[in-house]
Amino acid sequence: MKLRLILSDQLNTNHSWFKQQNDNVLYLMMETKENLDYVRQHKQKLLAKFASMRLFANQLESQGHKICYIHLNDKDNEQNTGWNLLKTMEQNRITAFEYQKPDNYDTDVELKQLCDGMDIPTTMVSSEHFFTERNELSTFFAGKKRPRIESYYKHLRKKHRIFMYEDGEPYGGKWIYLKDNKDIFPEKSPPPVPLLFHHNLADIEKAIDESGIECTGKANSRDFVWPLTRNEAMEQLDYFINTLLPEYGKYQNTMTMRSYTLFHSRLSFALNQKMINPREVIDKVCEAYENKHNTISLPQVEAFVRKILGYREYMRGIYWQHMPEYRHKNHLFAKRTLPDFFRDGNTDMNCIKQVIKQNLNEGWLHHIQRQAIVGNFFMLTGVHPDEADTWFSSMFVDANEWTQLPNTRGLSQFADAGIVGSKPYAFSAKYISKISDYCNHCKYNKGKKLTPDACPFNALYWHFYHRNRKRLSWILRTKNIYETWDAMEAKTRQAYLKKADAFLVSLNQ
Ligand code: SF4
Repeated sequence: MKLRLILSDQLNTNHSWFKQQNDNVLYLMMETKENLDYVRQHKQKLLAKFASMRLFANQLESQGHKICYIHLNDKDNEQNTGWNLLKTMEQNRITAFEYQKPDNYDTDVELKQLCDGMDIPTTMVSSEHFFTERNELSTFFAGKKRPRIESYYKHLRKKHRIFMYEDGEPYGGKWIYLKDNKDIFPEKSPPPVPLLFHHNLADIEKAIDESGIECTGKANSRDFVWPLTRNEAMEQLDYFINTLLPEYGKYQNTMTMRSYTLFHSRLSFALNQKMINPREVIDKVCEAYENKHNTISLPQVEAFVRKILGYREYMRGIYWQHMPEYRHKNHLFAKRTLPDFFRDGNTDMNCIKQVIKQNLNEGWLHHIQRQAIVGNFFMLTGVHPDEADTWFSSMFVDANEWTQLPNTRGLSQFADAGIVGSKPYAFSAKYISKISDYCNHCKYNKGKKLTPDACPFNALYWHFYHRNRKRLSWILRTKNIYETWDAMEAKTRQAYLKKADAFLVSLNQ
């Protein structure tokens, strides 16, 4: 009998493994507490993971495949992938072992080590999910100083002939439509309604509670809204294309208190679980553009393609190029612990309050909320990247280390000294008020700098650049910032630093 291991994020029904039913193949899936006990997990993350796994196993079983599924609280569950695997092999007289390429570095190492100790044939196969191989980015940028997302994205567009004319030029003559994608969501427009699903996961919630895994966040397990199967993920994709895509790019970088979803696809969980393939997502989006030129413009579609083909594959490449050292990068020597209000959102800073409360309720934030509000706060106040990683990896339904780590350490915290981003993405209230309506409902005044009611971000911004001068002034794109700082009167600079210091002292008190 051959044993094939299906990891918790490998729910790909179209994988070639499942083309043929074979009584001599046993598929192993397992729910374990492994890596879930280092910090409280958002309950929706666990519900979504275990529910999608169980539904996937049921589907395979209904197609005639033989499944060994280890439930969270099964008596003989060793709560560890390796031990469960070895035990299943022993119990079923396994003569060959196969697994799909893991996306997690530690799992990859662990499975290779286990295979080295086996005296049966072992094979690692592709997960048949990504556009790129793990090492494609490092090969592409070999010999170049720093990888940049823009050139990788162009390379992938050309390679996969996405939005390309026959002569090799991009549709519309431009690769990226950044300037066309910066609108603010109009105050009087009604926001779109998100597509929500309705699952009763009360039994899984009971199992989680009984297992002793500590959770945080809210979850309505009797009316769970995330897509949990391939069919639902496809439904969500269709809904996105028909209802949201026409305005996606325009409003992708805006935030409003009137809608937590706006025009975002919310496909990240389904994609990261591999319930749908990025290639089919892009194909369908491109097809919609070809068929509906009059309602869907190129900048809307390009912005979405850039997310899936550009950012997602780029972050995966960065992860595999720099692991395991990437986990320990802390270029800015940040050392603060997470302020208490990140557990409940009880702060007077309205932007922070809105996103933390949304995250507790929904287990999800869209990318600009993660970057411009949470990531920005962490970086400006000097939260240790380990703390930032822990928060981002435990609080989102779609969190996986390979995507979370480069996004957190790199893009949002600049802890990698510019591997991912060409400069730190630091924002004062000016930018946050430009792209959101949070400041209109805040106790602090976005336009004030040094008064008692001034927005804390305004002084924190300068404090950040001042205290990190040695580590940041070599970056060309910070030149103007330091010139502006140096041109200020000394007493103004002192006042900014004093104000930020007072705010930093007040954290964690
Ligand atoms: Fe956030 Fe400052 Fe705006 Fe308040 S004024 S919402 S703290 S950016």
